[in-house]
Amino acid sequence: MTSDTLENASPARASYFQRTENSATAHERAKLVMPGGNSRQAGYWEPYPLTVDHAKGVHMWDVDGNQYIDLINNYTALVHGHAYYPIIEAAERQMARGTCWAAGNAIQTPLAEQIVERVASVEQLRFTNSGTEANALAFTIARVVTGRDKLLMARYGYHGSSLEFELGSFGHEGLVTKLASFNDAADFERVLVEHGSDIAAVFIEPVLGSGGVIPATKAFLDGIKAATHKAGALLVMDEVLTLRFAYGGCQSIFDITPDLTTFGKLIGGGFPVGAVGGSADLMKIFDPSDMKVFHTGTFNANPVTMAAGSVSFGELTADKIQTMHNLTDILKEGLLGCAKAVGLPLSLNHYGSCLNMYFSERPPESSVVREDADIIGRFHLAAMNNGVFVAPRGMIALSTVFDQSHIDEVLERIGAAMNDVAAEL
Ligand code: PMP
Repeated sequence: MTSDTLENASPARASYFQRTENSATAHERAKLVMPGGNSRQAGYWEPYPLTVDHAKGVHMWDVDGNQYIDLINNYTALVHGHAYYPIIEAAERQMARGTCWAAGNAIQTPLAEQIVERVASVEQLRFTNSGTEANALAFTIARVVTGRDKLLMARYGYHGSSLEFELGSFGHEGLVTKLASFNDAADFERVLVEHGSDIAAVFIEPVLGSGGVIPATKAFLDGIKAATHKAGALLVMDEVLTLRFAYGGCQSIFDITPDLTTFGKLIGGGFPVGAVGGSADLMKIFDPSDMKVFHTGTFNANPVTMAAGSVSFGELTADKIQTMHNLTDILKEGLLGCAKAVGLPLSLNHYGSCLNMYFSERPPESSVVREDADIIGRFHLAAMNNGVFVAPRGMIALSTVFDQSHIDEVLERIGAAMNDVAAEL
């Protein structure tokens, strides 16, 4: 860090530079061998990301020894927080017994059984290594079943960072990607009428996650399901993030049966994972006896992931989900109170255990098109300076190991961070 940069920095930025010198050094070194010093855009922010040294429960510590309450939990994947002991135990037990092999692997069966038992629309499933892969595989299934090659998704929806989906996340149509407005069934219907004979699948998140924690309405989901089927396409519900909202997944809340469901994040217990499932009739295209789709992968259903994921999903009980939701309600009111106390405008999108903060009178259509980029950037740094880690875009996702005392501490620290931001403006 040159003294020049430090002199020109805002107080929050200057304090971030001073507190995180080892993170800056780690980033400089990483940049030499990885573009942007990273393998994951969501782990980068200006001026450079924190480098985390270790994490436990609700806390993370960076390489400078600073402690943070982690309010994003790897974008919802760590539903039981960091280094959750029952998950460590299951993973360690499995690691000692071997980590992967190219033959039958019974360790995946209990997790598959749990998903089939809890998620009503899923009779059979296949595991992948990420949510991105799960959605790509769902698209493959739909292409093979329908003989078509395009997909329709919500503008600013997120189904992973592969070519078919990433354009839509930023609001652009692509060669295979058509877009319609979230919560506007008529718009989906319009695209399906116009391009229906090309569209293999409609992908939908029941709650837009990356887009800004925006729940669908039941009428919207019912409307797009009817229009999708009328056009002869498959409805794919992306529950990679939303599985955390209910014992049987978000589809149980909205009482909707998609043709295919994709999973990821929490079903891996903190290890890389994805899955796609549906009726046995649809999933039979993978059956080696009558195979229509060749699907394999060196690490699919990795035994360590499966052992950890089974504990992670198994321990996500209806009671624990409810407790997270109750604490998130309290957090939401507290955040609004903190902003009011220092005169900052704050609006929030909220669903279950997730929130998205916007320093504007009203939430925008999506986190991608926000007017508060300057303030949210300042707040993100100020929050870290006060020992709280939120997503750079203001998203928060609690874990089951939070209790009221953590929420009180979070609100105290965020109150101080908002005060710092208000003083800078
Ligand atoms: N779908 C949704 C709804 C997601 O939130 C994500 C990840 N943020 C994905 C798919 C992609 O999952 P992964 O990052 O594991 O590829």
